[in-house]
Amino acid sequence: MSHIFPRHTKSVLPVAARGDGVYLIDSDGKRYLDGSGGAAVSCLGHSDPDVANAIKRQVDTLAFAHTGFLTSHPAESLADRLIAHAPEGIDRVYLVSGGSEAVEAALKLARQYMIEIGQPQRTRFIARRQSYHGNTLGALGTGGNMWRRAPFDPVMVSASHIAPCYEYRGRQEDETAEAYGLRVADELEAELQRLGPETVIAFLAEPVVGATAGAVPAVPGYFKRVREICDRHGILLILDEVMCGMGRTGTLFACEQDGIAPDIVTIAKGLGAGYQPIGAMLCSARIYGAIEQGSGFFQHGHTYMGHATACAAADTVLRKLTEGGLTDRSARMGEVLADALVSEFGQHPHVGDIRGRGLFRGLELVEHRGTKAPFAPDRQVAARFKKAAFANGLICYPMSGTIDGQMGDHVLIAPPFIISEDQ
Ligand code: PLP
Repeated sequence: MSHIFPRHTKSVLPVAARGDGVYLIDSDGKRYLDGSGGAAVSCLGHSDPDVANAIKRQVDTLAFAHTGFLTSHPAESLADRLIAHAPEGIDRVYLVSGGSEAVEAALKLARQYMIEIGQPQRTRFIARRQSYHGNTLGALGTGGNMWRRAPFDPVMVSASHIAPCYEYRGRQEDETAEAYGLRVADELEAELQRLGPETVIAFLAEPVVGATAGAVPAVPGYFKRVREICDRHGILLILDEVMCGMGRTGTLFACEQDGIAPDIVTIAKGLGAGYQPIGAMLCSARIYGAIEQGSGFFQHGHTYMGHATACAAADTVLRKLTEGGLTDRSARMGEVLADALVSEFGQHPHVGDIRGRGLFRGLELVEHRGTKAPFAPDRQVAARFKKAAFANGLICYPMSGTIDGQMGDHVLIAPPFIISEDQ
């Protein structure tokens, strides 16, 4: 009998024994094509020798040094490399162990920034209904997935939520994509006016929505308008690129394609590529400067932050994504994948939408393509899709999300960037 406390207590899972490129192999020898890189994590596949060697070298030299006392070469090198490729104005890197930790750090830094600049009355966050920002109580409180939130609602600090930019369901027939983008972005202005803009700390959003909707990018112009509204009211723009960052959408940071830069951006998953647990919160020089010239202390921290071995792995991953050309490969293979999905499923009666960027693609499954009516939740379509694919040796990431009170079934396809056309 296992002593593991699994996510699903009623199912028995196969044992992953080995990784081989884009494949995972279980202890019975069955091969699974990792079509979603787990949850958009494994961007380099499962047997990258360069990352493995970087980890071995680092463990032999220095495994860990507590950041309360010392910094380390791999942490410094990773921070330099990230900033060399970061959106404009982003200047500092706070290294943590995963996505939820990165989001928690972002929320707390944003709040502390407001205190440091003499605006302690700012206490609220605004996020979007179609969003997932992590499972810790602060991150969960900003997320918009009602199913994940429900049991914990009474004990969470809650953000207020506005509509997502979700063209498939939100754009009206007589509306251009641009007009739609401006209309939904203006919900941020309306929510600020309702709350009192001087009480709000930040707006938090995923540039391409992942875990609640299956790779939904915003329409052109949406984030530019959001940026303008944030600036007009002195609120921070926090972009959560935990899932969509690190080359997943074909550019290192997803927001590059929206033509804007955030004040704070979070990354994780692809940064460690599955080889080490690591995440990061990056912030602008302005925010860092407020702390540096103010209290001089960010009131936050985790024991394993800036872990030397994790940083050495991530530094190698990042080098391969940038100098090694793997981010460009994500863009190129993303087009191959998109064409294949459209030619296979473009006319399928139960595929309502095919979307995404780079190797970050989503299918929305519907009961009726014409009316866009979703399947009834009790049919558990996404879960059944996952099961059928898995039985046939394909891992893909299914999700059922509540969006504006409506259930929807989505499948996320996010394979490693090394995938070949045949695979
Ligand atoms: N933010 C986004 C956008 C995510 O997709 C996730 C995880 O799926 C998280 C945050 C939380 O990351 P982690 O699971 O590493 O804590």
